[in-house]
Amino acid sequence: QLRNLTGVVEDCCCEYETVYSLNHKVLHKLLQDIVKQPFFRYFKVKLWCDCPFWPEDGMCRLRDCSVCECPDGEFPDTHKNGHLGFDDPSCQEGKAVAAVDRTLDSRAFKGWTETDNPWTHDDERDNEDITYVNLLLNPERFTGYTGPSARRIWEAIYKENCFPDAERDTCAEARVLYRLISGLHASISTHIAADYLLDEATNSWGPSPALLHERVLQHPERVQNLYFTFLFVLRAVTKAADYLSQAEYSTGNDAEDMKTVALMKELVNNDRLRAACPLPFDEAQMWRGVDGAELKQQIQKHFRNISAVMDCVGCEKCRLWGKLQTLGLGTALKILFSVEATQPYGVYPLDLQRNEVIALINLLSRLSESLEYVHNLAPLITAEAIAK
Ligand code: FAD
Repeated sequence: QLRNLTGVVEDCCCEYETVYSLNHKVLHKLLQDIVKQPFFRYFKVKLWCDCPFWPEDGMCRLRDCSVCECPDGEFPDTHKNGHLGFDDPSCQEGKAVAAVDRTLDSRAFKGWTETDNPWTHDDERDNEDITYVNLLLNPERFTGYTGPSARRIWEAIYKENCFPDAERDTCAEARVLYRLISGLHASISTHIAADYLLDEATNSWGPSPALLHERVLQHPERVQNLYFTFLFVLRAVTKAADYLSQAEYSTGNDAEDMKTVALMKELVNNDRLRAACPLPFDEAQMWRGVDGAELKQQIQKHFRNISAVMDCVGCEKCRLWGKLQTLGLGTALKILFSVEATQPYGVYPLDLQRNEVIALINLLSRLSESLEYVHNLAPLITAEAIAK
């Protein structure tokens, strides 16, 4: 299944085998530890937003995929009809133990900027209807979100927002955007297959190698795009190493916060990473043509649209992870392409929102986990499983 993963990852600078080994031996475990830290597990998100494209698409009709698991009758009718002002903190994630502390913002996470990200539709300063979600309590997994609504979102992302023939486009920039989206899509599909509802009657969950085969592995270019997206985001993290190693990770819990700082330093100043794959992606090769500036503006607009489309995802948990991961990608794009290229490395005026850092690192962790799943589940695929 993975035989074609040899040589250098296309449009990148490192070999498949090296990236796999680096992730397997070093990055995967490290990232898993980081995203469990208090700073990285709370994501600030506006889950109840107007869909700017298809206003008739009622929000969150599917109860199974809701972040908020309230008992029957607790949802106001207005919410069921697609009213977007629902904001009941007691209902957040449904369980007392899962209650999210809404005072976090004023107590902790001080010293973070509110600079807007030109690549995304989100704006952290817009506080109306914003909630905190504990990501560890809302894992990305199969939700049952499927059919025309899900298809329409992916179609919009590929057809309306990407260039017409981006998959084969000779223009490197358009191809990069396509590959980033396809890699993210492959990662989402991998998480669905890795944590799937195998039997509804017994509520039995587990991996479905056959689904992974159908959606990802039988399309080798999707696995390649997953590797590409991983390297792209990894490059953004290493480029922002100085910033990320000095950032304020304070949440009010000194012991945990010191651990977060240590883990982040280990990630961004990692000798094994530097030795194995010193330049995961070479951003200097982008926007060099005569129409580079115009193209960049165009692609930036396309990506902002993709980020806005996330408000139309009709399943709350999918919308949560969709918003987080597009913000993570937008943050990588901002780090790689929207800082002063003329300033020497290390002193560029990079400024990130707290939420951007949380999204960037959680995205990298999702992609890293997907690479692990792909390699762990591929050997389990049998002809019998595929035939089912
Ligand atoms: P889809 O995955 O919907 O794909 C649609 C079409 O896109 C395919 O027919 C194929 O032509 C093309 N395609 C598929 N993969 C790729 C790729 N990697 N690169 C290029 N083209 C591709 N469902 C969940 O159960 N849990 C979730 O957390 C979840 N999160 C989602 C987040 C977002 C933002 C969106 C839009 C959807 C999410 N979904 C989630 C739904 C899920 O992605 C699928 O849409 C759904 O499972 C139906 O799958 P499908 O087999 O019809 O193909």
